[in-house]
Amino acid sequence: MTKKTPAYGARAAKAPLAPMTIERRDPGSHDVEIEILYCGICHSDVHKVNDDWGTTHFPVVPGHEIVGRVLSLGASASRFREGDLVGVGCIVDSCRTCPECRAGREMFCVEGVTFSFDSLERDGQNWTYGGYTANMVVDERYVVRVPKGLDPARAAPLMCAGITTYSPIRRFGCKRGDQVAVVGLGGLGHMVVKFGASMGADVTVLSGSRDKEKDAARLGAKRFVATKEPGALEALEGTFDLIVDTVSAPHDLNMQLTLLRNFGTMVLVGLPPASTPLDAAMLIHGNRRLAGSNIGGIPETQEMLDYCGKHGVVADVELITAKQINDAYARMERGDVHYRFVIDGASFGA
Ligand code: NAP
Ligand code: ZN
Ligand code: ZN
Repeated sequence: MTKKTPAYGARAAKAPLAPMTIERRDPGSHDVEIEILYCGICHSDVHKVNDDWGTTHFPVVPGHEIVGRVLSLGASASRFREGDLVGVGCIVDSCRTCPECRAGREMFCVEGVTFSFDSLERDGQNWTYGGYTANMVVDERYVVRVPKGLDPARAAPLMCAGITTYSPIRRFGCKRGDQVAVVGLGGLGHMVVKFGASMGADVTVLSGSRDKEKDAARLGAKRFVATKEPGALEALEGTFDLIVDTVSAPHDLNMQLTLLRNFGTMVLVGLPPASTPLDAAMLIHGNRRLAGSNIGGIPETQEMLDYCGKHGVVADVELITAKQINDAYARMERGDVHYRFVIDGASFGA
């Protein structure tokens, strides 16, 4: 049995998002049925609708920054109760038995992870639909608990922007006094500022223009640099222990590498549609490291949420209704985000 659910999705590449009806399965024995309260808009949703990565299956219903309330539980689901505030991010299933799944790195499941949207279910036939809907049914293993005290709308972006930045910041290290830079002040970028500042680092924002300068200081950054101003980057050579690059469009990585101290790390989380040339000399000089980071597994997502609960870290959001999704996409493509659009789940209509 399935349940008809109102959603917003795109029927073809670059098509505007429009209302559609999708089917949700009835909760199986280990499933949790969730009323979606809020869903953030990640730039990956925009890339997917544009088919920037050439992998999108249409129609697509994006959305992977979900916070909601548990409506009902399958007979054997025991981790949550009705009414609990929960989150769902990018991952809704995996094989559960491979070494990566057992280590809690489900995004690297050797049998292929099932993402919350535009992904084949384990049956190899049905496509997943994401959070731009009124409700969702997810196996409880892939559902996390939102700590009390976090505003649910502002917690929704933690489910992707939060974990995608927390994970590499933890892995590569960030402590009091470290010099950390973030390239691009959007959804992911503003979380780097918040996490970095909460860990005591001195965070520098590298942004395309001066438009976001005041915001950067309010978010916790110590310094703001407009990268397109002449000489702006040259002045920062050899400065940073860690650079987190969140930019969604192709740009010069070689110049950015020169901003690292010896043994410093630049980690890429932005996933532009085209590749960028890399000059080996930029890495070899100064023993610099270039790394990538792919979201984060379920246990680390819970760890990140608990950290946010303890330190009061949440996203800065602009709350919108479903009808405003296309405007939000257009603004994101211009870099005009302050700093995450979050859709009110009630606006999908039950
Ligand atoms: P976003 O909110 O749209 O922010 C991206 C920022 O990049 C913009 O605000 C802008 O900041 C900067 N930018 C520079 N040149 C740009 C251009 N030509 N067009 C648009 N923005 C430009 O995006 P997001 O949601 O943070 O996502 C950023 C990237 O990370 C995307 O490519 C997304 O697919 C990827 N992502 C990766 C993972 C992962 O697992 N690695 C997870 C989630 C998202 P300034 O105005 O400050 O320059
Ligand atoms: Zn995302
Ligand atoms: Zn696996």
